[in-house]
Amino acid sequence: MSLHRIHNFNAGPAALPLPVLEEIRESFLDFQGTGMSITEISHRSKPFDGLLNDAIERLRRLLGLDARYKVLFIQGGASLQFAMVPLNLLADGASADYVDTGTWSTKAIQEARLLGKRVRVAASSQDRDFAYIPKAPAFDPQAAYAHITSNNTIKGTQWADFPDTGAVPLVADMSSDILSRTFDARPFGLIYAGAQKNIGPAGVCLVIAREDMLARVPAGLPTMLRYTTFSEKNSLYNTPPCFTIYTVGLVLKWLEETVGGLAAMEALNRRKAALIYRTLDASGFYRGTADADSRSRMNVTFRLPTPELEAAFLVEAQANGLGGLKGHRSVGGCRASLYNAVTLESVTALVDFMAEFERRKG
Ligand SMILES: *Cc1c(COP(=O)(O)O)cnc(C)c1O
Repeated sequence: MSLHRIHNFNAGPAALPLPVLEEIRESFLDFQGTGMSITEISHRSKPFDGLLNDAIERLRRLLGLDARYKVLFIQGGASLQFAMVPLNLLADGASADYVDTGTWSTKAIQEARLLGKRVRVAASSQDRDFAYIPKAPAFDPQAAYAHITSNNTIKGTQWADFPDTGAVPLVADMSSDILSRTFDARPFGLIYAGAQKNIGPAGVCLVIAREDMLARVPAGLPTMLRYTTFSEKNSLYNTPPCFTIYTVGLVLKWLEETVGGLAAMEALNRRKAALIYRTLDASGFYRGTADADSRSRMNVTFRLPTPELEAAFLVEAQANGLGGLKGHRSVGGCRASLYNAVTLESVTALVDFMAEFERRKG
């Protein structure tokens, strides 16, 4: 059977490591000698319990999480976290700071306000269509938490260094760059990340919550909206998305054992991003949309001189085996998502194609 795989630059769901997909294929009909597929076994079974705890332990090691942090798997995507964060962590009357860096953080702010919560926008880059990360926002020392979006999937910007919030716990939506680089988790009260960008298939949101945050959870919330429901039952209060968690576990194993951890992953991600940004900077034809000091290493957003050239670029790229390069429908243009599983070979193929396209059309 010949295998046709394209260079996949999708923004999410996105590329998964080929060795992970191969392992799924190998074990799909008979998971660990059970005679059942992972999609057929009970979430209360020993094999599932083993893989769930293995995934949690790998994540703890990769991120260097201390014993105060709980790792939870919750459905509803990052979008549900826009509501769960304020419901669980922001008491009525208290106020939370949010930094607005575009689309996803804007939605997080709107959702908190919809719930009648007090939200202060500590900083925003809306004045220039979110092309940059605000410098050193002034946070309210009384804030219940300070919310940021670590990587802005649609606008192509990323926090290079996380802001200093003093004693105020950071809360971050890391959906599109979790596990792409090393960072110090200790200032974070809570981190959430939808799986389908950098760590697995769609279906689950990873939530990392510190125990002082879990202590805030009000008793009156519906059971499935309380973080403590998940922390007290090791994410097994009800049926979790078993297949997604299994795949996340394989991705974490690949990161630890094949890639060699987050420092190695970050080094590779830096090389991949540098290749494309070098191409953009050397060109009068392609134009990056994010300020140089705010550029994302995960989602590279760029324009061509005209919409017609952009359309031709996307069609020809696809014909050359380079997929998923269309910008988000809200901003247009082009976007190359360079998540962990996107190989250096794929990025090299893209920059070669970009150079060749520019020679013909520039
Ligand atoms: C994709 C994305 C979301 C939305 O994720 P869902 O899992 O679809 O709800 C939220 N935040 C960021 C940063 C994203 O990239």
